[in-house]
Amino acid sequence: MTRVAIIGGGIGGLTAAIALSRAGIEVAVYEAAAELKEIGAGVALHPNAMKVLRAIGVEDDVRKVAGRSQWQVTCNWKTGRVISKTNRQEQAASFGTVGATVHRADLLDVLAGALPAGIVTLGRRCAEVRSGGDLAVARFADGGEIEADVIVGADGIHSSVRASLFGPDAPRFTGKICYRSVVPAEAVRGARLFANFAQWLGPHGTIVLYPMRGEDLINIVCHYDDDGYRHESWIAECGGAEVLECYAGWHESLLRLFAAADTWYKWALYDRDPIPRWTLGRVTVLGDAAHPMLPYLGQGACQAIEDGMVLAAALSAEASDPLTGLARYERTRRPRASQVVLASRERGLSNHLTSRWAAWRRDLSITWRRHMNRRDPEGRGTAWLAGYDATSPEVLAS
Ligand SMILES: Cc1cc2nc3c(=O)[nH]c(=O)nc-3n(C[C@H](O)[C@H](O)[C@H](O)COP(=O)(O)OP(=O)(O)OC[C@H]3O[C@@H](n4cnc5c(N)ncnc54)[C@H](O)[C@@H]3O)c2cc1C
Repeated sequence: MTRVAIIGGGIGGLTAAIALSRAGIEVAVYEAAAELKEIGAGVALHPNAMKVLRAIGVEDDVRKVAGRSQWQVTCNWKTGRVISKTNRQEQAASFGTVGATVHRADLLDVLAGALPAGIVTLGRRCAEVRSGGDLAVARFADGGEIEADVIVGADGIHSSVRASLFGPDAPRFTGKICYRSVVPAEAVRGARLFANFAQWLGPHGTIVLYPMRGEDLINIVCHYDDDGYRHESWIAECGGAEVLECYAGWHESLLRLFAAADTWYKWALYDRDPIPRWTLGRVTVLGDAAHPMLPYLGQGACQAIEDGMVLAAALSAEASDPLTGLARYERTRRPRASQVVLASRERGLSNHLTSRWAAWRRDLSITWRRHMNRRDPEGRGTAWLAGYDATSPEVLAS
């Protein structure tokens, strides 16, 4: 039986571990941190990810901790005019299921709880991997080593597995930053206003809001053009006054919400081109280690989840030959994930338009697309993303 070692116990690594163990493949996860934990932020799981979570048996538990939004809306930054509005029924009819918005820690708890005991080893930071003839080897910072038939780097944006295989990457600063916070709904006057999944489009920026844990928490993600801050960290804090100043002139309800936030984080957004290879010998990568992407489509975790499903399907279809299984995994996943990387980059540009004329044309095209194509309820030409079903045997490349 193929033995798979996964480096990294984040969203991608744990999803892959569940899918592999359900496929009867022996799997072990090695996580650098001393406990499985996540940053305090939300994650939007679009229908393409929810189909995988259903297939690996965790959909119901994820929905229990998800936000309760009925509508997905896109609004004008200043007036609040609704540019597009989609309800859950439309989403289900177009994509086969509806998305969910959850706190990242809740998602990680659900994934970890679905794994058989003893699969995850904590406190093991991988320093290097190598692929020999019949085995792959991971060496850890503590000097220890493990061997497996296949090693999967699911160790995130600064992946040491990817660096071992292909050398250091070359991130480019985008000139864009992201502020984010999570606010208890009870701290906000008129919190019902924020019970939907909402995207606000304005000059130089986008704001994304959604509820989590029913309607208890409101997740805030605010993008802005700013080339003065270069720190690529998910946990660097900043002051609330800075955020209010940045979005001065945006809709009053947004500023009221922002004023209720206690803690803000500031993250400089770096862009990386899709890499031409994911696999070397018996070692491959998945999730952010394989296809780091800008957050504008909210697809980083969704693509990591799809990766885990397809990896398990490919290795189980080629049970006697893991190298062929890895080749099928990469042939299936790399083209799609690379397309998402590029589409996320494009979305960042089209969301932040500064010319009023160009923004008017974008908004008109959203309305027109929604009218012309019922399978594109968001009106932004991305039905190919949410409509995809990584659990279908047909997606696996031959
Ligand atoms: C604020 C924010 C909001 C986001 N919103 C969304 C969203 O709405 N929708 C969406 O789809 N995506 C979203 N994303 C992107 C998404 O979170 C990432 O794409 C996703 O977490 C990638 O999962 P991963 O498992 O590949 O990596 P990670 O989640 O980064 O997990 C990597 C794991 O590997 C461990 N690790 C790192 N190095 C080592 C090592 N050397 N050895 C062992 N273990 C190691 C880490 O401790 C971590 O547990 C968001 C990201 C952020 C920061």
